[in-house]
Amino acid sequence: MNCPVSGKCGGCCYSETPYEEQLAIKQSEAERVFASLPRLTVLPIIGMEDPFHSRCKVHRVFGKDRENRLISGIYQEGTHRIVEAGRCLIENETALGIINKVTEIARAMKYRPYDEDRRTGTLRHLLVRVSRSSNDALVILGTPTDEFPGRNDFVKAIRNACPAVSSIVQNVNGEKTTMVLGKKFRVLYGPGFLTDEIRSCTFRIPPSAFYQVNPVMTEKLYEKAAEYSSLTGRETVIDAYSGVGTIGITLAKNAKQVVGIELNRDAVQVAVGNAKENGCENVRFLAGDAGEYLEKTVRGNLKPDVIVLDPPRSGSTEKFIRSSALASPQRIVYISCNIETLARDLAAYERFGYAAVKVQPFDMFPLTKGMEAVCLIMKNPRFKKERIGSKR
Ligand code: SAH
Repeated sequence: MNCPVSGKCGGCCYSETPYEEQLAIKQSEAERVFASLPRLTVLPIIGMEDPFHSRCKVHRVFGKDRENRLISGIYQEGTHRIVEAGRCLIENETALGIINKVTEIARAMKYRPYDEDRRTGTLRHLLVRVSRSSNDALVILGTPTDEFPGRNDFVKAIRNACPAVSSIVQNVNGEKTTMVLGKKFRVLYGPGFLTDEIRSCTFRIPPSAFYQVNPVMTEKLYEKAAEYSSLTGRETVIDAYSGVGTIGITLAKNAKQVVGIELNRDAVQVAVGNAKENGCENVRFLAGDAGEYLEKTVRGNLKPDVIVLDPPRSGSTEKFIRSSALASPQRIVYISCNIETLARDLAAYERFGYAAVKVQPFDMFPLTKGMEAVCLIMKNPRFKKERIGSKR
């Protein structure tokens, strides 16, 4: 399918595979992974109409080519070799254009890439995120220290060359780590965040918080999560691992109240603002560990009717699963970007008196191995809560 670095960059594995075949491979993978849950219905995977350029967040690392010229690219899998990927099939084309322009400008301005071993050079990472609703872009320039010589001219040149760029942010990360972003951000131009729309709600997305990378599929994913939540306006909903509040806020108009719980304090602050911006007075967001919050909830007065959870790749925890079962909601809606940890957690829910009923896979990451899934988990009416016990 005409990828110039196919087989070299390792970013995708199905660039040569017809899309229908990719979906069939993912479907059989889902069926294999969920085979350990024989009562669970695995629905046919929902694919994309256009599987190309679906990823709205693009990351590059700066380095040098053989002629010592500054380049930006992707680490070849398992190596420290940088492969330029200016025409990637997965990534958003506006973002790719900006990546290429910013790299050209940096080269013309004689910036040097950061050398991890010698600790020299200025530019380390380049990240671009594009909003689906506004087509605006946020650029993050990753540097090893606060120092950024020529910063103002660089920002000016980027703005002149890339009209879609609405914010430019510096991020400082001098650690020897595989984590791209450090803790410190400095806004160099614009508001320093993007705004996007999902299911008629508006969201502010700061560079420090998680946000789904495929907006077309996110819309479908959240619609399915809403369908599985079966809200009538009378329910108390817990949105666990709530990020900037996207799921809780899109569910709020059909619920009595929503409580979001999220570990990242910056994300919680943004979620509170997002709730206000969307006029949601029945939503609260709290900072903390989701498992601990659920444990406290069981002892308190809040009685959730529905729990929605959307944990990171590593999945949820025994503490969360156990406490959420003890909280006794009618339904649990589990959104996952890793079906292996989802299957593991579903098996735990079965031990605690809940049954995984149906799972809907989504092709959130076309051309790669990954997929997203939403699962409906229902209370087993015959199960005696006392069997869970008070502590393990
Ligand atoms: N629901 C959001 C975010 C999902 S990503 C969305 O759809 O955009 C997973 C989120 O879980 C991240 O925001 C991460 O910061 C948060 N997280 C990770 N560990 C956590 C924990 N132990 N307790 C609460 N939140 C946690």
